[in-house]
Amino acid sequence: MKIKDALELARKNGLPDLEAHIIIRFISGKSKEFIISHPNFEIDDEKFLKLIEKRKNGYPIQYIVKGKEFYKNWFYVDEGVLIPRQETELLVEKAIEFIEKYNVKKIAEIGVGSGAIIISILIETKTIGFGTDISDKAIEITKINAKRFKVEDRLFIKKGPFLEPFVENYNDIELIISNPPYVREDAILPREVLWEPKEALYAGKDGLEFYRKFLNMYDLSGKIVLMEIGHDQGDFFRKLGWNVIKDYSNNDRIAIFIDRR
Ligand code: SAM
Ligand code: GLN
Repeated sequence: MKIKDALELARKNGLPDLEAHIIIRFISGKSKEFIISHPNFEIDDEKFLKLIEKRKNGYPIQYIVKGKEFYKNWFYVDEGVLIPRQETELLVEKAIEFIEKYNVKKIAEIGVGSGAIIISILIETKTIGFGTDISDKAIEITKINAKRFKVEDRLFIKKGPFLEPFVENYNDIELIISNPPYVREDAILPREVLWEPKEALYAGKDGLEFYRKFLNMYDLSGKIVLMEIGHDQGDFFRKLGWNVIKDYSNNDRIAIFIDRR
C-alpha cells in the first residue's frame, strides 16, 4: 500500500493524520519528513491494517511506538506495563526534594512498572534503589530502561510483592515510594486504559486495598513514604495523620509520611 492510500484509509477510519504518521513511522522506520515527501512509497499492508484496527479500538499509541516521555526522559514501554502518567511526575519531583533535604542514600519503589519513577530519581540523584513488582514483564522492562539510562549498577530489582524481596535491606531503606494500583473494582475506565494490565490498576472494592496491606505489613518509623493516591483517597490518609498534597489539576495526588528530623 502506498503512503498516500494508507493516510486516506486512516482518515476514513477516523484516525487523525498525526496518528497515521506515527504508525507509518513505526512500520517503515522512516522519518516524518520522508513520509510527507514520499506519498508513493510502499509500506506493509498487513502491519498497517492491523495497527489501524487496534488503534480504532483504543489501543494506546504508546504501545505502538513503544515509548513514553516521562519527567525528563523517553522510557521504553510495551504491553504488560502501565504507561507512565504525566501526573506521576510530581511524585518524582517530591521524592527528589526529600532526598536532597534529608540527604537520603537508599530508596525503594514498590511496583516499578516500566521503571520510570525510580530510574528518573536515580538519574537525578546519587541514591541506590531497590525496586519490586509482581509482574515479570515489569521486571524485564525496568531492567531494559535501567541499562538504557546507565543506572543498572545502582538499581536492584526483584520480583515479589511489596518490599518482601528486600526484607534484608529494609532497615537501610530511608525513603519508600509507590504509585500502586488504586482504582476501585467497579470503576468505568476509558477504553485505552483497558489495554493496560489489571494488576497495575485495581485495588479492591474501594481502591484502598494495596495501602491497607502495606500499612499492616511494615513498621514505618524513621522512614519517609510517598505514595500516589486517587483524587478521592486523600481523607483516608489525612485520618492517619499523613500529609496530602494536590497535583497541578488541584486533585489530591500524593500522600506523604515523614518520620525524620
Ligand atoms: N511505577 C509505574 C508507574 O508509575 O508508571 C507503574 C505503576 S502501576 C499503577 C502499579 C504497579 O504495581 C504495576 O506494575 C503492578 O504490577 C505492581 N503491583 C501491584 N501490586 C503490587 C504488589 N503488591 N507488590 C509489588 N508490585 C505490585
Ligand atoms: N491514574 C491511573 C489511571 O489512569 C491509575 C493508576 C493507578 O492505579 N495507580 O486510571
